[in-house]
Amino acid sequence: MRKEYRVGIIGATGMVGQRFVTLMEGHPWFRLTAVAASGRSAGRTYEEAVKDRWAMSSPIPREARDLVVLDAQADAERLAGMADFVFCAVDMPKDEIQALEERYARLECPVVSNNSAHRWTEDVPMVVPEINAGHIRLIDAQRARLGTKRGFIAVKSNCSLQSYVPALHPLRKYGLDRALVCTYQAISGAGKTFERWPEMVDNCIPYIGGEEEKSEREPLRIWGEVRDGAIVPAKGPVITCQCIRVPVLNGHTAAVFVKFAKKPTKEQLIGKLREFSGEPQRLQLPSAPKQFIQYLEEDNRPQVALDVDFEKGMGVSVGRLREDTVYDYKFVGLSHNTVRGAAGGAVLCAELLKAHGYIEKK
Ligand code: NAP
Repeated sequence: MRKEYRVGIIGATGMVGQRFVTLMEGHPWFRLTAVAASGRSAGRTYEEAVKDRWAMSSPIPREARDLVVLDAQADAERLAGMADFVFCAVDMPKDEIQALEERYARLECPVVSNNSAHRWTEDVPMVVPEINAGHIRLIDAQRARLGTKRGFIAVKSNCSLQSYVPALHPLRKYGLDRALVCTYQAISGAGKTFERWPEMVDNCIPYIGGEEEKSEREPLRIWGEVRDGAIVPAKGPVITCQCIRVPVLNGHTAAVFVKFAKKPTKEQLIGKLREFSGEPQRLQLPSAPKQFIQYLEEDNRPQVALDVDFEKGMGVSVGRLREDTVYDYKFVGLSHNTVRGAAGGAVLCAELLKAHGYIEKK
């Protein structure tokens, strides 16, 4: 199977959009055929539109350079006809994103979204493929509501979560009761570089709008059950979270404290982390990390500089698991926020949807 599926990217000029563009370059199934952004970028070639703000370490892929940027709103019908599905990562008001994504779905163009706008829409699955792949069957109920045959919206969860929820998930087997989390989040998570956000050099900012609520609530929906075309969120574990912006370009770190109903051993916990794999590994999806979680024994790991690109940014690194005086254990997690936490996580989600027949060629 060679690049048979045509892909459009909405918000292609932004931080996450650029990451999508680079991930499409070598993708075995997905071929980039259309890029879209706001009216400010529309009408220019992709290269012209991004040349002053290209933030990736590799050059702009050849297949993207000469594509003419479409206006995501004014050219919606045209774009929907040019792609078998779209990825969406835009910076717009929530109600406008909801309307935009629903419009594409109704145009029979599936939307795999990075945006938070639809994360709590009852029949929209919010998927971390290793954890809750089964939630994609919500799409049947969503299609019935929208009156579509092909079109639907699927979303991925917030980027902050990816540094600790994958690690908490296998530990739930031991009756995980509560978790206290502090995240240390990279500036690319705000769509920024140091050039565009000089105030972040040598600085920390103890506030990221809306992030703490998302970090505490979204895991419970991810761990929820599908019932009557909706998700019934899990009741626990209770999570409390503080999110801090730190002077790092890529990579969200989380310091995590956990308490169990019945305390397991350290060796049991590390064993569960190392052996955890899910549906993407079973299906051998192209973007699936072979090892989802690596456990590092060194006292000074995981480090952003050394570990953020583990499994091409799709794996999660965990270290420093040890006993705590107030909680049972504490540990540190790290993930790449624009790969696993954003574009890469959405690409993996699209691969899962294709493998289960929800994304098809037109
Ligand atoms: P960004 O760098 O600011 O990019 C925003 C994109 O939205 C640009 O392509 C921009 O196009 C486009 N846009 C703005 N207004 C538009 C409009 N009216 N119509 C169509 N397109 C419009 O933002 P980002 O960091 O990539 O984030 C994008 C989304 O992903 C946000 O919802 C964010 O919360 C989410 N997200 C980001 C991360 C991350 O790590 N950065 C992680 C998870 C989720 P122009 O260039 O033409 O203005």
